[in-house]
Amino acid sequence: MNWKRNIQVLDLEPGVRLELACRKCGKMRWLTGRELLERQSAKYLYLEDVERRARCRQRGCGGLMRMAMPGEGETSGFVGGIA
Ligand SMILES: [Zn+2]
Repeated sequence: MNWKRNIQVLDLEPGVRLELACRKCGKMRWLTGRELLERQSAKYLYLEDVERRARCRQRGCGGLMRMAMPGEGETSGFVGGIA
């Protein structure tokens, strides 16, 4: 099961925080549901596509990102560490 393929940006709660980690340099940043929902072009994307389009913002890196949804109390049903 790949949750990134089953969840659309539209399904996200605005308060959800996704973790994006650079596969190249390891730099991490957070992406909130609200941030994604505000992007008209992202609304109908699956998280898998969001991940695929994300690029590291670190200067000179531009590496691909790995998305994770940390197991926080409010996002019941999700357990952290799904790779
Ligand atoms: Zn990077």
